[in-house]
Amino acid sequence: MFKTKEEFKYEFSRRIIESYGRTVEESHITEKFMVLETMVRDYASVNWAMTKMATKTNYQKQVHYFSMEFLIGRLLVNNMMNLGIYEIAKDGLEDYGINIHDLEELESDAGLGNGGLGRLAACFMDSLASLSYPAFGNTIRYEYGLFKQKIENGYQVEVPDQWLRLGNMWEVRKPKHAVDVKFWGRVVWNEETGKWEHVDAECVRAVPYDMPIVGNDTTVTNTLRLWHAEPSEEIPSNKDFRQYAQEVRDICQTLYPDDSTLAGRTLRLKQQYFFVSAGIRAIIKNHLRVYPSLSNFHEKNVIQLNDTHPVLAIPELMRILVDEYDMEWDEAWHITSHTCAYTNHTILAEALEKWPVSTMESLLPRIYQIIEEINRRFIGYVKQVSDHDDDLLNRVMIIKDGQVYMAHLAIAGSFSVNGVARLHSQILKEQEMKDFNFLYPNKFNNKTNGITHRRWLAYSNPELSALLNETIGTDWLKHPEQLEKLMEYVDDSIVQGKFYNVKQQRKQVLADYIYKHNGIRIDTNSIFDIQVKRLHAYKRQLLNIMHVIYLYQEMKVNPEFRIYPRTFIFGAKAAPAYYFAKKVIKLINSVADIVNNDPETSDYLKVVFIENYGVTIAEKIMPAADVSEQISTAGKEASGTGNMKFMMNGAVTIGTLDGANVEMAERVGDDNIIIFGLKDNEVETLRQHGQYNAWDYYNNNPHIKRVVDSLVDGTFHESREEFRMIFDELMNRNDEYFLFADFEEYVKAHELIDAYYRDRAKWSKMCLVNIAQSGYFSSDRTIEEYVSDIWKLDRVKR
Ligand SMILES: *Cc1c(COP(=O)(O)O)cnc(C)c1O
Repeated sequence: MFKTKEEFKYEFSRRIIESYGRTVEESHITEKFMVLETMVRDYASVNWAMTKMATKTNYQKQVHYFSMEFLIGRLLVNNMMNLGIYEIAKDGLEDYGINIHDLEELESDAGLGNGGLGRLAACFMDSLASLSYPAFGNTIRYEYGLFKQKIENGYQVEVPDQWLRLGNMWEVRKPKHAVDVKFWGRVVWNEETGKWEHVDAECVRAVPYDMPIVGNDTTVTNTLRLWHAEPSEEIPSNKDFRQYAQEVRDICQTLYPDDSTLAGRTLRLKQQYFFVSAGIRAIIKNHLRVYPSLSNFHEKNVIQLNDTHPVLAIPELMRILVDEYDMEWDEAWHITSHTCAYTNHTILAEALEKWPVSTMESLLPRIYQIIEEINRRFIGYVKQVSDHDDDLLNRVMIIKDGQVYMAHLAIAGSFSVNGVARLHSQILKEQEMKDFNFLYPNKFNNKTNGITHRRWLAYSNPELSALLNETIGTDWLKHPEQLEKLMEYVDDSIVQGKFYNVKQQRKQVLADYIYKHNGIRIDTNSIFDIQVKRLHAYKRQLLNIMHVIYLYQEMKVNPEFRIYPRTFIFGAKAAPAYYFAKKVIKLINSVADIVNNDPETSDYLKVVFIENYGVTIAEKIMPAADVSEQISTAGKEASGTGNMKFMMNGAVTIGTLDGANVEMAERVGDDNIIIFGLKDNEVETLRQHGQYNAWDYYNNNPHIKRVVDSLVDGTFHESREEFRMIFDELMNRNDEYFLFADFEEYVKAHELIDAYYRDRAKWSKMCLVNIAQSGYFSSDRTIEEYVSDIWKLDRVKR
C-alpha cells in the first residue's frame, strides 16, 4: 500500500486507467471520487482481515452491537484521517490539480438512522475500533435512509434519500455468509423428533454487506454488517413470485415504514426480526467454527441491544439453542440471559414498544410461542420473589392485554440494563422501572453517553484542534480527558483571543453556507444561538421560538429595548406524520420571514432554519455555535448528545437540568453554563397534582399573553388558523411540556447570555472551560465503561 505521495499518485492513476480506461486528467470527478474511496477501503482491508484473524486465533470475546439505526454520516475523511493517510492523499491529488474537498462533497451521508440513538451507535463503533476492541455492528441495509427534508413555503416536504445512487464504495457483499429467515407459517409438534417445527414458512434470504470500521491509529478494523433482503432459493409455493419478490424488497426499502396502517406496522416487526435473526445466525456459525459447542457462547459473545427494536434477539437465540441445537430450556436461558444486555433510551410512554399478540403470533409463530414460555416462567419467578404481589405482577408481565411488552422482555432476558445518563438511569431505577429494579436489584446501571471527539472535534474543527495542539500538545487525541490541561489557560488573554478568532472563522464558514442555501446574510458579530435536533414537543423548539417572538415584540413596542445582535439558528426534521412538529417548523419559518425583513429590528435579530439537518451539516454547525440550546422539559431527554458536541466545540449551554446537561453542569460549574427552569421532580409534582394551568399563566403574564395571541391574530401568517393547533396544544390541551412554567426564567437566562457575551474575556473563558471539561463526554470514556462493567472485553492482540 502507498506510503508516500508519489506512491499514492501512481496507484491513483493506475486505478483510474484500469477502471475507466482514461487518464486522471480525462476522468470525470465522480470517477476520481469512487477510485479514491475504493483505494481507502482497500487500504483498510489488510487490517480488516488481520483483525478478524487475530480475534479468532486468540479466542477473544466480541461485542455485537445490534441497532435498527447507525447514523454514520460520511466516511471518506474520517477513514483517511483515522488511517493517517489524509495529508498524503490531499497532496497527491493537489499535484493532479484536484481539490480533495471537491471529492469529499460527493459522498452522500449514510443516513441509516433518525437522530441521537443512531448517531450514538456510530460514535460507539468509532470508539470501539479506535480503542482496539473487537466489535461487530448489525443493522439493515436500507435502500433509502431517513427522508431528505426540503422546506417549501415554510413547510417541511419529504423527499426520498437516495444515498446509494453512486453506489456504496465502502461495503463488500458477502453472499457466502447469507442465511435464510423464516416468516409466517405454523408451528406443529413432530411426534417422531419430539420437537416443534415451523412449517409452511416463507423464507427470505439475508445477505450481508460488510463495511470496515477503521480505528484511529491502530491496526484494528471492525465490521458494520448491513443485512440485505433477497428472495430465497426456497420460493413460497402458495404465492405469485412477483408479489413475493416485492414483499422481500419492502423489508429493506425504508428506515421507518409508515406505521399508521397494520401492514406498515407488521413490516416494521418484520424488519426487526429479519436483521436480528440473520445477525444471530451468523454469530452462531462463527462461534462453531472456533469452538466445538455453544455451551461457552456467552463467554465469547455479548450482544448489546440498542433500545427495544432488536429485543427479538432474546427469543431468537432461545429458539436456535432449543430447536436447532437440542439444548435444554434452562441451559439455553442461562446462555441467552448472560449474552444479552439492553440499553434503554427513553421513558416517554408513547415510545415504549408493544406489539399486538395477533401480529406477533401470525408473523413469527415459533418466536411467539417462546415468548409465551419466557413469560410463563417469568411469572413464576415474580410470584416467588414478590411473595405473590398481584399488583406488581400485573405491572411487569411481558404479555398482557393482548400485547407483548418489549422492554419487559428485554429486562427479563438481559444480564444488564443501562440508562444513558445519570439522571435518566436514576429515574429508571426509582420510578419507571422500579418494580424491575426490585425484581433484579443488580441489573440496572448507568452509562452516560458520549461522542467521538475525533469526528466531532479533531476532524470537523481543524482550526480549534490546531489551537489545542499548540496550547496543550496533542495528547488529547488519544486521551480526551487530557483536554482538562486547557484549564490552565482559560484566563490567558492570548489563548482567549486565539479562541475568539477561531470561533469567528467558523462562524464565517456557517454564515457562507447559510447565505448560499437560505439567501440570508447573517452577521458573524452577532451571537450564534443554535438549536439543532429532531423536532419533538418535549425538546421544546416552541419555547425557543416563543422567546424570539417575545424579543421581537419587545423591540417593536419599546425603542429603548435593544438586544445584543443575535442570530437564532434552527435545524430539525419532523416525523412525516407528526402534525404538531411540522407546524412548529412552519411557525419558525413564518417568524423568520417577518423578523428578518423588518428594518426596525433586523440589525438585532435574525432567524434561520437550516434545511435537512443531518451529520454532515452538523459538522459545520457545531464549530460555529456560541450558544447551545438544550431546553427539554426536565426528566424527558434521556441524555442528549448534541449538547456534548456543542460543548466540545466551545459553545455555552443554556439548558434545563435534564439528561446529560446535569453532568455537564457539574463539570463546568455554575459560572460556565446557564441553567434555568423546573427540575425533574418539580415537573413531576406539578403534573401529579394537576397544578399547571396554562390559562393562569396567560392571564397573569402579559409577555406570555402577547406571544400566544400573536399565534392566532395574523401577525405571522395571513390565515389566523395556520397556527391554531399550536395555540390549542398550549392553551386548550394545557401543554404537556409546561412551556409557560419555564418561560420567565428562560427569558432571564437569555438576558444573562446577552450580558456575558458583551464581555469578551469572560465569554471566551466560559467557552474554554467547556472545552476543557468536555473530555469526559468522549465516547471513548463511555466505551471503556461498557467494556469494564458489561462487556468484559480484551483489546485485540496482534
Ligand atoms: C448528535 C445528533 C443528534 C442528537 O441530537 P440531540 O440534541 O442529542 O437530540 C441528532 N441528529 C444528528 C444528525 C446528530 O448528529
